[in-house]
Amino acid sequence: MAESEDLCRACGFCCDWVLFRFAELFPDEAEWAQRRHLPLVDRAGKASLAIPCGAHSRAGCTVYDERPTVCRSFRCVLLRGVADGHTPFDKASALVARARALADRIAEQLHASSNVSAVAGLDELARLASEGQLKQLPPALLLDIGELRMILKRSFLPP
Ligand code: SF4
Ligand code: SF4
Repeated sequence: MAESEDLCRACGFCCDWVLFRFAELFPDEAEWAQRRHLPLVDRAGKASLAIPCGAHSRAGCTVYDERPTVCRSFRCVLLRGVADGHTPFDKASALVARARALADRIAEQLHASSNVSAVAGLDELARLASEGQLKQLPPALLLDIGELRMILKRSFLPP
């Protein structure tokens, strides 16, 4: 559905540092990823795609037509809501825009004012913040991390 593709292209949280650390692959997909020079992680002897994914760009997935099964099949709560008509597309787009703006601001501010990279992942950033290890950062950044986690929990992730 075109609306789904538009929403995912504007979002990208499945493929960047925000939501996931890996994407499980079938063995033939691991071979495909190796041929594509996409970074892999070993999980209990099985190769998974490392996330942030090496095929992700701000314009979307650069291997869209060949993307692995998990990428084709995963739909977050927000996307499912749009697909089944429970969530108006405009409302979903506004939520994605807000969440994307927060994520971009977090990544930029971390880059500018700390040696912690957003690539560590949102959960790791929240853990560091809760342990007081990000005290040197502007309080507004910690608020952004909290707001983004709240939006994801309420609207993107299953209960
Ligand atoms: S989090 Fe949802 S909207 Fe965003 S890219 Fe993934 S499936 Fe698409
Ligand atoms: S292969 Fe494409 S859809 Fe799958 S995680 Fe990488 S960028 Fe995202």
